[in-house]
Amino acid sequence: MNRQVAGVRGVAALLPAECAPWAAVEERLRALMEVYGFREIRLPIIERTELYARAVGEATDIVEKEMYTFLDRNGDSLSLRPEGTAGCVRAGIEGGLFHNQTQRLWYQGAMFRHERPQKGRYRQFHQWGVEAYGMSGAAIEAELIALGARILRELGVNARLLVNSLGTPACRERYRDALVDHLKAHRDRLDEDSVRRLDRNPLRVLDSKNPAMREILDAAPAIADHWSTESRAHFADLTGHLRALGVAFEVAPRLVRGLDYYTHTVFEWVADETLAQATIAAGGRYDGLVTELGGAATAAVGFAIGMERLMGLVTRPPQVLGLGVYVMTPAALQGRALALAEALRDRGVRVEVHLAAASAKSQGKRARESGARCLVEAVDEEGVVILAAGATQGDTVSWTDAVARISEILGAEAKIDDE
Ligand code: ATP
Ligand code: MG
Repeated sequence: MNRQVAGVRGVAALLPAECAPWAAVEERLRALMEVYGFREIRLPIIERTELYARAVGEATDIVEKEMYTFLDRNGDSLSLRPEGTAGCVRAGIEGGLFHNQTQRLWYQGAMFRHERPQKGRYRQFHQWGVEAYGMSGAAIEAELIALGARILRELGVNARLLVNSLGTPACRERYRDALVDHLKAHRDRLDEDSVRRLDRNPLRVLDSKNPAMREILDAAPAIADHWSTESRAHFADLTGHLRALGVAFEVAPRLVRGLDYYTHTVFEWVADETLAQATIAAGGRYDGLVTELGGAATAAVGFAIGMERLMGLVTRPPQVLGLGVYVMTPAALQGRALALAEALRDRGVRVEVHLAAASAKSQGKRARESGARCLVEAVDEEGVVILAAGATQGDTVSWTDAVARISEILGAEAKIDDE
């Protein structure tokens, strides 16, 4: 035998057993996107590296050490997308989506980050992102948050919603000074990453996952003490909307996003766990990004759900239509079995036919395991035995009557009449 080729570390295939629940959740998410009036945007998987350096920021884990960056054959530096917002804004500017318009957009797909693989942290993972443009008030933030809360509620995911405000760039400037003073006072206890960030991007220090830093960070000043009147009013609007909509939240005074283009609201849903991988979804307002990437000033707010983390926490999976019919057949009757299956599929029934060489006994085992609502056994040229799931006694019917009888069992008569 030839040597097997191993998959890439942290990059997993979804096998059929996992795809089914994923597809069911994705279908539900699509339906919710429509209910909220969001439209899909399909974004490329590769972009110029410069896009992420500017949009995600140089002094971030993502750009410093997590991107898959390569030179293409022309010598251009490209990167696999580590997140979706940057590409969404880039495509929106080029596609003319922002000027004097409002947009509600969603995208979904694989993202790539070279992180240390562990539970809830992979090198290829999937995000479901929603972004809204052209709306500067707290109401759109509340709408997005209500959408996220509805998704988690429907799927039975237990999570806390944390909210905070970064205020305006001027608020953040004042806060930065206070934060740097605090961190400098404890410089000897900062880890290597934090010391580096202290000069380049001090707000990012608050993002540290290092438990040894917890005490210093919990004692750090809160940005709320530096909010302007406008920032305070914006945050009061948001919390007012959330209360009116009945969305439970907690104010997290040290929740931040480290980049200059973030303004006002930031939020996260955190699972009721004490994991470093507990954040299921995260987002915020990023009014400065469209101009940062060369577009005209555009209000923007969005969030992204980590699909692997979401899937791991679903307790109420959406119902999926299971297999309707499983057909067992000896080799000599496979042709007839196929024709029967096609006739049932014409009526929208999900059918699987056992087409491998196998004994009646092993076919019966496979049929029961399939979970089909109706088992059909091809007996001879005359006809079949039909067994409704759970029944002990089968019906013997001719091949010609089989479709009608099976449809009756499945409650599919209405569909037949429609045709
Ligand atoms: P974390 O704090 O867990 O590193 P992050 O701040 O890097 O997350 P974002 O860039 O805000 O994450 O991405 C939004 C969501 O995408 C996260 O809340 C998480 O659910 C998911 N996510 C991020 N990185 C990974 C990964 N490597 N594997 C799986 N999911 C991820
Ligand atoms: Mg990360």
